[in-house]
Amino acid sequence: MAKAFFIDTTLCTACRACQVACKQWHDLPAEETKNLGTHQNPPDLSFNTYKLVRMNEKVIDGQLRWLFFPEQCRHCIEAPCLEALGDPGAIYQDPDTGAILYTRQTRQADADAIIESCPYHIPRKGPDGSVSKCDMCNDRVHNGLLPACVQACPTGAMNFGERDAMLEMANKRLEVVKAKYPQALLLDPDTVSVIYLVAFPPENYHEFAIASREPSGVTRHMALRKMVRPFAAALSHLG
Ligand code: SF4
Ligand code: SF4
Repeated sequence: MAKAFFIDTTLCTACRACQVACKQWHDLPAEETKNLGTHQNPPDLSFNTYKLVRMNEKVIDGQLRWLFFPEQCRHCIEAPCLEALGDPGAIYQDPDTGAILYTRQTRQADADAIIESCPYHIPRKGPDGSVSKCDMCNDRVHNGLLPACVQACPTGAMNFGERDAMLEMANKRLEVVKAKYPQALLLDPDTVSVIYLVAFPPENYHEFAIASREPSGVTRHMALRKMVRPFAAALSHLG
């Protein structure tokens, strides 16, 4: 049966144990970085960073809030990245877990098409032009272990299990959180395998906290590129 994460951001303290555990399990190198005046570090996901605890300081209803958002691939149930490529050898969905997985053949695929297709702006290009992202720790899961990030979480923010159980947990927790934060909601719970609970409207957490896909199937990313291209072409003629 398909698996899912339930990520309760109201319990996240931004300790970043999940971020470090992800690096350790995948043997990924650290990023060279510096203090940018925010707890969020490194500043973005990358080819070598599949999990990132995003942090935002916001004044909401007159109160300063620290908002944490442990971001990763959502393992979409009908994954646009898989559909965009249309090559089951390059990107496929594990029928047992629901994980969306890149393979060696992904390296030969059109990296930009994969990146542009993602409504959550997740895949990142590496120096060799290939793309990477969270793999649901599918090797661990197939061996009866929790994903490394879930295993490392000390607060109960990160949860993983059968999809039905995670949805039930998410809905129960939503009711509890709503008593204190009436705007609380689950993000895209019907279409993804990584279900977030947030206390405030999602745009406070991250631009891509919810799917950017428009009904036309065009993502904001793609729409922006389409808008920018004619200007770039006009400028090149002027130059
Ligand atoms: S979040 Fe993006 S990269 Fe992950 S499965 Fe969905 S479309 Fe693919
Ligand atoms: S599931 Fe595994 S690969 Fe994905 S963010 Fe968690 S530790 Fe990283």
